[in-house]
Amino acid sequence: MPQIKQLDAHVADLIAAGEVVERPASVVKELVENAIDAGCSAVVVEIQRGGMGLIRVTDNGCGIAPAELPTAFLRHATSKLRSQEDLAKIGTLGFRGEALAAISAVSRVDILTRQKGSASGAKLHLEGGVPGSVEEAGAPEGTTILVRDLFYNTPARLKFMRKDSAETAAVAGLMQHLALSHPDISFKFIKDGTDALHTPGDGKLESAIYAALGREFARSLVPVKGRGGEVEVTGFVTKPLMGRGSRSMQVFFVNGRFIKSQLLTAALEEGYRNQIMKGKFPGCVLSVTLPVTAVDVNVHPAKTQVKFAREREVFDAVYHTVLDCLDRADAPAPAPKPAAEVVNPRGDFFLNMDAKTYRQQAEQPAAQPAAKPAPAAPARPAWNTEWKQPVRVADAAPEKPLYQTRPPMKSAVSALGGGPASVIARPAVKEESKSAPALKIVPPAPKPAPAPVTEISVKPEAEKRPFVPAIPPEQQKLDLPGLVRPAEAEEQEAPWRIAGEILNTYIVCESEDHCVYLIDKHAAHERVNFDRLKAAQTPPMRQTLLTPVAAELGREDCALLLENAALLESFGFACEDFGDGAVLVREVPADMDAADTAATLEEIAENLRTGRSLAEKRENLLHTMACKAAIKGGWTSDISELRVLVEKVQRGEVKYCPHGRPVAVKLTKYELEKMFKRA
Ligand code: ADP
Ligand code: MG
Repeated sequence: MPQIKQLDAHVADLIAAGEVVERPASVVKELVENAIDAGCSAVVVEIQRGGMGLIRVTDNGCGIAPAELPTAFLRHATSKLRSQEDLAKIGTLGFRGEALAAISAVSRVDILTRQKGSASGAKLHLEGGVPGSVEEAGAPEGTTILVRDLFYNTPARLKFMRKDSAETAAVAGLMQHLALSHPDISFKFIKDGTDALHTPGDGKLESAIYAALGREFARSLVPVKGRGGEVEVTGFVTKPLMGRGSRSMQVFFVNGRFIKSQLLTAALEEGYRNQIMKGKFPGCVLSVTLPVTAVDVNVHPAKTQVKFAREREVFDAVYHTVLDCLDRADAPAPAPKPAAEVVNPRGDFFLNMDAKTYRQQAEQPAAQPAAKPAPAAPARPAWNTEWKQPVRVADAAPEKPLYQTRPPMKSAVSALGGGPASVIARPAVKEESKSAPALKIVPPAPKPAPAPVTEISVKPEAEKRPFVPAIPPEQQKLDLPGLVRPAEAEEQEAPWRIAGEILNTYIVCESEDHCVYLIDKHAAHERVNFDRLKAAQTPPMRQTLLTPVAAELGREDCALLLENAALLESFGFACEDFGDGAVLVREVPADMDAADTAATLEEIAENLRTGRSLAEKRENLLHTMACKAAIKGGWTSDISELRVLVEKVQRGEVKYCPHGRPVAVKLTKYELEKMFKRA
């Protein structure tokens, strides 16, 4: 074994820096968080070449005293934390005292700052963490930090940097989150010389959402506001019918800090249970505020995760707030009430019921009207004991954090009210061109309603079906290469008799040897499409949209899609940048419902984000496109369509859907007889 030695300070600094500064976006995050902690009302972030060329962050905050400038760049030097006790009640975004040290260790930094009320300012240059001397300099009040040549002295890290466009997208996404978490600060983001984001900083969350996430998304929202115990929940969620194709528009803040949390996602989605279409996800900008002692933010160096002391309480607060507000949004035109009165209109029902009991009761409408507390509710479950009587938000005095920072979204809270999402009065940019799609191709004449297949066929209310030829004629005859052909004998088997279709989803068939088959028509068709797309040698047929669709997907998703424009092209999409987090789509695959364009692109962006290699991305895209072109469970199908699918299943060409779920379930005569106690 070589001798054990303590690392020298320089190497130790570089290793530590790697934890905080992973990529340009982490530098921007730390610098902007410092600006927010410094009490600024405006911050301007400028980047060049994805931040690898230059990052400049300017704020109008409190500034730094010239004498303290070199100290600010030392490791574990902070003005926000003094003792161990302070660690339990962190109220600032920064507290580790590591960011400036880490950033300066791996780049060339210039800082220019002037304290409020001070006659002159100071500047300092650092190279690889080594400071020059502090010089007096004229400067506006506040601080400007310039970071150049990031990772110039850590070639290994430099090698692993992604494309500039990916880094720009990451910074853009981050800027959105920062702007949304602080509607009272004006954020400006300039990338390679062009303005990419500018929020007014008027304290209204809806203004920040409009500016950061786009008009379409802002319009799809309803306000939510509620409280359970010490947990306050405010913000906006999407209307159930406006579900998104992915979770990318779920934005959560805990005490003003953007975080990712499975707990919050689960609580939000539980609030939409049975209200949102399968495969769709709610979007939100939700702020959870709780005493700083009830949440640990010190669990991850990048500070994007938190640990709640009482997870159940947080889950329930979010869940009930969302559920209540969605119910209210659904109610037929309720008389508007002042905000304070509409907080938790169901009173204390959650004192008596847990989510499961509530749902069970809600599912039996006659037995128990949902609006009333359950008189015969089971004994209060143990985890619910911490629930207090609902408190009006206005009555609650917020706990003072150690450091006085602006209360996250506080000013937005007052603007939320209980009514429908406020319409944001702003110029409607590019409104006309962002309208609904229109097709150039002529839709086929509506088919005559198919005759009922048999008497047992159940037809629940079918979803309206778009003009998509479910199984194009040429595809019905398609003989796919590479498919395993079943034995000759099987091919000569008599065709299965189609007994009917149930629940508009499953085809019921009977085979010659007295077996019953249930076939999931969507899954089967999805598989057929998947195999067809995979085997195709040429790009799919396209349809040109008469009016191009401007899909507002957010900056991060847009950048991802544009970065992969060639791949999208090979799937039949023609997209171009439309600015402001929108892509303009001129062409989509011919077998896709054009009205699905935005949702499909959102899903595709998710595919691209999660795919690790080009092959994996391509495969994910195949899944999405196969699904989009498939007949859906719930649609009424023509018997001829069903027949094609049944034949393919019978021939063994289709066994599993592309996600691996079975396409058909078999019941033998013996199994049926056993069920009926005949055998
Ligand atoms: P932390 O934010 O965890 O305290 P940093 O390394 O990010 O650690 O910053 C060190 C210190 O420098 C901060 O505690 C703060 O006092 C000061 N500082 C950094 N950026 C700014 C700024 N933009 N305005 C005023 N003070 C700042
Ligand atoms: Mg900091």
